Amino acid sequence: MVNNSSEVICMKLRKYVKKGIAAILIAIMLSCVGGRVPSYATDNNLIQEEMTMSATKYGFTRFDTLAEFKTWIAKQNRYGYTGIQIHHTGSPEYKNFYKSNGTHEDELTRQYNMKNYHVRTNGWSDIAQHFTVFPNGKIVTGRPLSNTTAVGITGWNSKKICIEIYGNFDKGKDVMNPEQKEAVVTLYGELCKKFGITPSVNTIRCHAWFTSSGSYLGTYVAGKSRKTCPGTNFMGFGNSKAAIENNFIPMIKEYIKDGSTNVETNATTNGSTNTVGVYRIIVDELNVRNGAGSTYKVNTVVKKGQAYTITEIKYNGSTPWGKLKSGAGWISLNSKYVEKVK
Ligand SMILES: [Zn+2]
Repeated sequence: MVNNSSEVICMKLRKYVKKGIAAILIAIMLSCVGGRVPSYATDNNLIQEEMTMSATKYGFTRFDTLAEFKTWIAKQNRYGYTGIQIHHTGSPEYKNFYKSNGTHEDELTRQYNMKNYHVRTNGWSDIAQHFTVFPNGKIVTGRPLSNTTAVGITGWNSKKICIEIYGNFDKGKDVMNPEQKEAVVTLYGELCKKFGITPSVNTIRCHAWFTSSGSYLGTYVAGKSRKTCPGTNFMGFGNSKAAIENNFIPMIKEYIKDGSTNVETNATTNGSTNTVGVYRIIVDELNVRNGAGSTYKVNTVVKKGQAYTITEIKYNGSTPWGKLKSGAGWISLNSKYVEKVK
């Protein structure tokens, strides 16, 4: 967990961003430690990158960037985990997260509500999962890692990390957002590294591979499996043992090897049309550029709260860029700058 004093500082910083004096603050901070002061004021994206901070509420921590999660996990004890479970929430699904007024649920409040359900309705001692990955790619802590018994898969809970991926990934339901995929691959990769887990179908298993009584079926078997969890179209390849072995496990291995998440490859496989739609700007200003990348010239800027229809997606490295319907240019669809409205 983030300690309280640094959290207070984080909250203050966030307030200052809103007041628009972020650049000055960074300049002062950097000059204090003798660093060179870059020209942040000329690139709003960079200011946001610098100033995004995690938040803590109800005893849970939300990581607003994957870098924050990596810093946090590096500081945790090693415990004795031997495997990681894969779940989707099923319900709630994406339509619960994205509200019709263009905003989305507060991740920490949703986590708290899930905990209350698990404790009050199910009678468990705590929230079931150690982590939840939200549709916008934010990771939130749950059951403390010090509690090494998950409540996720009857028969496969001891020394297992329980991860809930927010959405319903059965066929015909939610299609996982690229930013959520990136967070999922990063989370599994970082946990494998941290706990010395070699990714395979023996160490990373779907809920669907087990019966209600906890017998291991070895794959999803309709009618016998406890649930379809994490969904018959999980990440576009599904919940069978072969799908996980041939797609998900290689993604985690690749991440461990070189830190890449390769979600763009995946998005192409699934048809990149799954990400076109309406996006709302969540930073004060965002550059509209002449092409799909931050090296293209700036045509204009769009402002916080405005929503735009994106008609085409292109990836530049791992960053998705969206073409504005108006023809004004391209904006970065990084989830730090925009959120999908529909
Ligand atoms: Zn499950």
